[in-house]
Amino acid sequence: MDCDVLIVGAGPVGSFAAETIAASGFKVVILEEHKTIGEPLQCAGLISPRAVELAGVGRDIVINEIRGLRVFSPLGGSLHAESNQVFSLAVDRALLDQKLAERAENAGALLLTKTRVTGLEPVKEGYHATAVRDGRTINIKARLVIGADGIASKTAQWLGLGHKNPRAVMYSAEIKLPRNNTASVDVFLGHEFAPGWFGWLIPLDENTCRVGTGCAFMENHPPPRYYFEKMAGVFPEIFNGLKVLRYTGGSVPLGPMPKIFTSHAMLVGDAASQTKPISGGGIYTGLRAAQICAETAVGALMEEDLTENRLYHYQEQWNKEMGGELNRAMGYRKSFLNLSDKNIDLLIRFLNKPMWLNTILHYGDIDYPSRLALKMCLLNPLARVFFRNAGQTTTPSFPTVKTNSDSKHPAQKID
Ligand SMILES: Cc1cc2nc3c(=O)[nH]c(=O)nc-3n(C[C@H](O)[C@H](O)[C@H](O)COP(=O)(O)OP(=O)(O)OC[C@H]3O[C@@H](n4cnc5c(N)ncnc54)[C@H](O)[C@@H]3O)c2cc1C
Repeated sequence: MDCDVLIVGAGPVGSFAAETIAASGFKVVILEEHKTIGEPLQCAGLISPRAVELAGVGRDIVINEIRGLRVFSPLGGSLHAESNQVFSLAVDRALLDQKLAERAENAGALLLTKTRVTGLEPVKEGYHATAVRDGRTINIKARLVIGADGIASKTAQWLGLGHKNPRAVMYSAEIKLPRNNTASVDVFLGHEFAPGWFGWLIPLDENTCRVGTGCAFMENHPPPRYYFEKMAGVFPEIFNGLKVLRYTGGSVPLGPMPKIFTSHAMLVGDAASQTKPISGGGIYTGLRAAQICAETAVGALMEEDLTENRLYHYQEQWNKEMGGELNRAMGYRKSFLNLSDKNIDLLIRFLNKPMWLNTILHYGDIDYPSRLALKMCLLNPLARVFFRNAGQTTTPSFPTVKTNSDSKHPAQKID
């Protein structure tokens, strides 16, 4: 089989990129190893209204609207901010993936499920991929390969772009639990039950919630379920009586990858570590990256120039748009990692005042958390102490893109 573009993985990001490229008239093949799109589910499904709009999938994926936030410290402090404005949405994540895959097919992409890509070889003017479907080997030649195969991306390794990013490993589940307030999400902070991460509870309705916690990946860490049981023990008034309906855990990559393109190939979504370092959310960032990746692909295919120097514009554009935000978020994460449980408690109690709660509600944005941080720094010099690390990392730590070229002007170098 020959195609213009082979996309490895039919997660939301791969399908979203496929739709744009196929709609421009190019022959696109998407290979997905699982039988059912969106399954197994590994997500808490909390995204911004902006992300739903960007995906263009309509409101029927929305299960619950979130207007508030409660934050709990392990030492008793808490805050609760709630407004009339919807700031995030609990969505049916499998349905989101299915709708995007269907749109990609409607745009002309060929989607093969139960088909696992097993290798990639560079050939003249592209790549030769092998895949396994129903025990049979399939061979595909593609001018361009897009690796959208998630956190454990094999495509990244085959292309020589693999990178050991930090990760958060999570226990996550859908549970049965009676809940009075269905408009606020809960966030639980504490090193005992969420070392280097946070716990969460997202209400879906009066009887069902999504919950989880996790840890920053370290060698020999206990299973994430251990942390969840600890967290439930610390907050019995919230978690007592829960019944797990299904497990939805997994890992997210954190922080930028040095390079996400090469000649005739690009990485996108979790495969390119395009997630938000504070929350681990990767749907909004992944969809936006898919747009940039697809636009670059269409331009490069039309110009018949799939060299590294042409595809370089993908990472350049991505860095320009999201690099500053993600870099600052890595800084906030660093600041947070340095806080003891006592300081977390002090911070939560300090913020539990009308001025701060209103500021959180007004400027809080789950896709762009640095906007709130900036406002807090302007309002109170004390906040600057907490965000100091973030200030220090605003520019230098996001990677400078390097092609294989020695030239200072990559566009001048022809592969
Ligand atoms: C516990 C948890 C909770 C999360 N909660 C949220 C949240 O609330 N909000 C949010 O925005 N984000 C959340 N995320 C992150 C979000 O799920 C990811 O960022 C998102 O799924 C990335 O999409 P993707 O398409 O890049 O990758 P994926 O969704 O991982 O899709 C990759 C696809 O590639 C396929 N694949 C892999 N290898 C191959 C192969 N060799 N051949 C063929 N197919 C292959 C896989 O089967 C998969 O379908 C969460 C993640 C976890 C683990």
